[in-house]
Amino acid sequence: MEEKPYEPLQDEHWDMEQAIAEDVLEDVAYYRTLMVNVIFIGKPYEEKWVLIDCGIGHYAQRIIEAAKKRYGDVPPSAIILTHGHFDHVGSAKKLAKYWDVPIYAHEKEMDYLIGERSYPVGNSTIGGGLISVLSPFFPTTPPNLKKWVEPLPADGSVPFLEKWRYIHTPGHTPGHISLFRDSDRTMVSGDAFITVKQESSLAVFIQHQHVHGPPAYFTHNWPEAEQSVKKLAALNPTTAITGHGLPMSGEDLQNQLSDLAHNFKELAIPKDHYH
Ligand SMILES: [Zn+2]
Ligand SMILES: [Zn+2]
Repeated sequence: MEEKPYEPLQDEHWDMEQAIAEDVLEDVAYYRTLMVNVIFIGKPYEEKWVLIDCGIGHYAQRIIEAAKKRYGDVPPSAIILTHGHFDHVGSAKKLAKYWDVPIYAHEKEMDYLIGERSYPVGNSTIGGGLISVLSPFFPTTPPNLKKWVEPLPADGSVPFLEKWRYIHTPGHTPGHISLFRDSDRTMVSGDAFITVKQESSLAVFIQHQHVHGPPAYFTHNWPEAEQSVKKLAALNPTTAITGHGLPMSGEDLQNQLSDLAHNFKELAIPKDHYH
């Protein structure tokens, strides 16, 4: 069947001018879709770039706009997903269709992305705050990306990003990944850790930076989540761009991440999940 060309929805036409990615490093930028970041890797106006995550739904046109301002008409070589939660893949289908590019995700995340499995329903009783209360209403079945999604190479390499590798960081979801560049210790953590207390709607809107554990309402395996944070802290990142919240760098990041790794139970695990 012939795919229809992508047409932006009416509600996507607003604030196109504000659709601008913020620079973090010369070749790394992020753009916030309401409360979730998408990340652009690649220097502006160079031939190759890659998009990490796709944000919430109805943001495809704004992400395309931000990409155009940064890369002109060059489409990304690929889309890489840190995981398949609805707020990270909401615009994935439209973007893959528009650019006609492959999507890569961890092998253990594939079932959720091809319509075979749904994530557990968000737990509104943990974490507190408005966003947790709303979490049971968040979709747990991601869009079916069967036509585009492929598993990442098993060796940890990232297609089209020669200097980067991915690290399997399960816990938040089974096939969650983070990305890391050893040469300057830049990290894209996805939701393995974030820099805003996502359960608190106030903190989400003020965007005060502080390293936090994964969003509690959707994290399904806390012991794995703890191991994943320990793994990432051991890499001692100099800069981290997380799925939610502002990018962080330097000593604040390193101290707070190490604190989270050492005191994960107290700082991140909801009380009723203690064993
Ligand atoms: Zn998530
Ligand atoms: Zn998230």
